Amino acid sequence: MTPDGSRIWGDESGAVLAAVAWAAGRVIRPTDPKTGARPSDDIAADAGPTITAEGMGAVAAMKVFDEVLVPATRAQDDPMNLSYIPSAPTRAAVGFDLATSAANIFAGVWEAGAGAIFAENEALAWIVGLLGWPEEAGGCFVSGGTSGNLSALMAARETASTKRGGRPAGGWKLACTADAHSSIRSAARVLDVEVVPVEGDERDHLTGAALAEVLDREPDVFAVVASAGTTNAGLIDDLDDIADVCEARGVWLHVDGAYGGAALAAPSVRDRFNGIERADSFIVDPHKWLFAPYDSCALLYREPALARAAHTQLAGYLDQLDRQAWNPTDLAVHLSRRARGLPFWYSLATHGTDRYTRAIEQTLTTARDVAAFIESAPTLRLVCEPELSILVFERPGWTDADYAAWSRRVADDCSLLCVPTKWRGRTVLRLAFINPDTRAGAVNDVLATID
Ligand SMILES: *Cc1c(COP(=O)(O)O)cnc(C)c1O
Repeated sequence: MTPDGSRIWGDESGAVLAAVAWAAGRVIRPTDPKTGARPSDDIAADAGPTITAEGMGAVAAMKVFDEVLVPATRAQDDPMNLSYIPSAPTRAAVGFDLATSAANIFAGVWEAGAGAIFAENEALAWIVGLLGWPEEAGGCFVSGGTSGNLSALMAARETASTKRGGRPAGGWKLACTADAHSSIRSAARVLDVEVVPVEGDERDHLTGAALAEVLDREPDVFAVVASAGTTNAGLIDDLDDIADVCEARGVWLHVDGAYGGAALAAPSVRDRFNGIERADSFIVDPHKWLFAPYDSCALLYREPALARAAHTQLAGYLDQLDRQAWNPTDLAVHLSRRARGLPFWYSLATHGTDRYTRAIEQTLTTARDVAAFIESAPTLRLVCEPELSILVFERPGWTDADYAAWSRRVADDCSLLCVPTKWRGRTVLRLAFINPDTRAGAVNDVLATID
C-alpha cells in the first residue's frame, strides 16, 4: 500500500487478462514453423526500448512479446521440428503450467508445499513403478537433465566418501562412454572428479565386459553412468550386464534417461531397459518425451536417504524444518523451487497412463515408418540400427556443405527441421521423434527430395 491507501501496482487485471488470453491462444493455435532466432540488433530495432522509468504498459508490452519476441524463437513443439530433442507438451500440461505459476507454491519444503509435493510424488511414483524399483524410492523435479545428473552424481560421490572413508588420494572418478551426455562431463568438472572413458562396443554401447576391465584397474571409480537413450542416436547401454558389474563392486549406477527414459512406458521396447531395476539413481525429462513444457526433470533415487545425506542444507533459519518430511530441497542442488512437476502430473492425471503409453508407442511407430522409408530409399542409408525414436542416416557421396545446404533449404521452406550431426567423425542427418502428432508420410515426402 502507498501512504494514501492505494495499491502500489494499481489494478493489474488488464495485464493479467492480456497474458492469460495470449497463453490460451497460443495453446489452441497451430505452431508457426517460420519463427526462429534473429540477430539481437534486429530484435532491438523492432522491439524498441522496453524498460523505461514510466513503464510501457501491459498492452504495449504484450504487443512486443506477440509480434517481435515470440516470432524470434523456434516453435519447439512444431510436429515437423525433429532436431536436437524437441518438445511436445500436451495442451493440458501447458494450461496447467499457468495454474502452477498462479498458485506460486514454494515447493522446496513439505511445510510450505505439501499438496503440490504430494502430487509431484504421485507422478514420480508412476515412474518408480516403471523402473521396477521399491516403493521407498523417490526424488524430486529439478530444472533439467543437467542438474538432475549433477545432483545424482553428487549423492553418489558423498555415499562413496562415507562408505570408503573419504576422498582417495588421487581423487574420485566416474566411468562412462564418450556417448554419455555432455552434462556428465560438466557435472564431473563441478564435482572435481575425473572422467574415466570406457570404450563402447561396435555399436557404441557401454557393455559389462568393457566396464569390468576398466573398474579392475580403477578402484577409485565412485559411479558408472549408463545411457538409457543417447541423445545423438537413442541407444541404450547394456544395463543388465552393467548392473551386474556395479553390484559386484559396490559402485553406484546412475542411468541417464533424460530423453529415452520415457520409453519405459512403451511395451514394445521395455525389455531393452532390463537391468534398470537395479540402478541407484535415474533421470528422465518430462519436457522431452513425457509431454510436459519446459523445464522439468524427474530425478529419482533408489534410497532417498543417501541423497538427503548429500544435499541437505543446514542453517539457523532452516533449523525448525521437519527433516523427516519429504523436502525436495534435501534431494538435489537447489533450495527455492517452483512445483515444476505439476504440469506433468496434471497431464498424466488428465489423460491417464494408458494414453501416455499410446502416445509414446505412436512416436516409436512413426520413427519405425520413417526408418523403413530410409532403408528403402536408394540414396539414403541408416548409419546405425535405431533402438528408440532417433534416426541417424546419410546420403552417401554428400559433402558437409551438401548436408548443410539441404538442411537449410527444408528449414527455410518450413517443411522440416532436420539439423545434421556427427557420427564417428562424419556429418550425417538426424531425426528425433517425440511428438505423436508428427506424421511419417509428411517426413518421408521431405526426405524424398534428397536425390
Ligand atoms: C537432454 C539430455 C540431457 C540434458 O538435459 P537438459 O534438460 O537439457 O539439461 C542429459 N542427458 C541426456 C541423455 C539428454 O538427452
